[in-house]
Amino acid sequence: MDVVMIGAGYVGLTTGACLAELGHRVTCVDNDALKVARLRRAEIPIYEPGLSELISKHVESGRLSFSDEPALAASKADAVFIAVGTPSGPDGDIELSYVKNAATSLAPLLKPEAVVVIKSTVVAGTAQMVRRLVHEARGRSDVYVASNPEFLREGSAIRDFLEADRIVAGADDARAAKVLEQLYAPLREKGIPYIATNTTNAEMIKYAANAFLALKIGFINEVADLCEAAGGDVAAVADGIGLDRRIGRAFLNPGPGFGGSCFPKDTRAFAAIGRRFGQPQAIVETLIDRNEVRKSALAKRILSELGGKGRRVAILGTAFKANTDDVRDSAALTIMPLLLKAGAKVTAHDPKARHETERHVSGAAWADCPYEAARDADVVVILTEWDEYAGMDLDRLAKSMSGRVVIDCRNLFEPEAVAARGLKYVSIGRKAAA
Ligand code: NAD
Repeated sequence: MDVVMIGAGYVGLTTGACLAELGHRVTCVDNDALKVARLRRAEIPIYEPGLSELISKHVESGRLSFSDEPALAASKADAVFIAVGTPSGPDGDIELSYVKNAATSLAPLLKPEAVVVIKSTVVAGTAQMVRRLVHEARGRSDVYVASNPEFLREGSAIRDFLEADRIVAGADDARAAKVLEQLYAPLREKGIPYIATNTTNAEMIKYAANAFLALKIGFINEVADLCEAAGGDVAAVADGIGLDRRIGRAFLNPGPGFGGSCFPKDTRAFAAIGRRFGQPQAIVETLIDRNEVRKSALAKRILSELGGKGRRVAILGTAFKANTDDVRDSAALTIMPLLLKAGAKVTAHDPKARHETERHVSGAAWADCPYEAARDADVVVILTEWDEYAGMDLDRLAKSMSGRVVIDCRNLFEPEAVAARGLKYVSIGRKAAA
């Protein structure tokens, strides 16, 4: 099929490259002309394992191309995906203006029978609203609108797409349902569960899924704090409850509070839509609040270990999780400014996210490796679970530091191993070892 992908960000690029892998001809369109120029030079603007190779493969196969101008490709497309951003608005509700702009500017270009597929994460009722806008802009009702939310995770986006747990295909009419079926035929044939439903359900599924996953993280974070106080070990507790198939072990790793481009934004939107429909999502409202409190409480804890102004702290990891350069709503973005404001000297390191972090946080020094960041540090704080940190030589780390405290928000080490180097090891949900 001929496909146009509007928005060449994380989701648009991955989905575009993967749809090319499934055999479709895809044009990825972005209104950021600089981004498109870079993509045409085979420079991939984001870090995502395997994406660069997949894109090169399909640029060469002739099935993938890039444009900053949708007119030509959209006029031939069987399906036009909208994968633009849906950032949080001031009241937590999402900003739909990018989706609306993309849909209305596309509308006059489409051939009859084309299907507009909303890939962006949007609240219930958006596909129906977009359908009205598109029909109004065309002056006739000869194109269709579907909802096909995306569940990929940054860092494993390609596998998550090509080996998805399920595909959610929301359509309110036979034409949209058929086009989605054809688009995903190769994955359906591989046996990937295919949920054919209406657009409102598809939209609800995406938010309910993300809210639930975020709840698992928020829950284990609080269990971890309780374990710490009661002398337990959260890893043993997570294993013990996670082996129950009704619960599952995934997303039961405690940390500094969830971040990223999805969970904070999607939980806020879910709560906002609950308020709008008069059905407050009280559990999710509390989760959002507790998650923010967690990040600032961690900053306070670091400051109390530092013990005064002008002391040095090394921050290892600013990406919201490993294997991505995405720092949106990451714990580091809350914690680093609080430390700097309190007068700490902050040296940071991240294998991929330095550039993105520097756009949001100023005043920190940067190091090229974790040992350099730790040089003369009073306290070392690990915020992201990069393999590079888990594989650190603890003797070398201890020698680099002038102080003795390691605060590991990802539980990357055995407490005894760190303590054996004469360090005080503060991890999450386990007794401090010194
Ligand atoms: P992003 O910010 O990385 O990319 C969006 C892109 O759209 C940008 O490159 C922007 O220039 C472009 N754009 C905006 N308006 C445009 C227009 N009118 N025409 C052409 N291009 C336009 O965002 P993302 O992370 O890819 O997220 C996109 C959507 O997918 C969001 O709704 C997000 O919630 C959802 N989502 C994201 C993830 C994730 O892990 N990033 C996972 C699942 C769902």
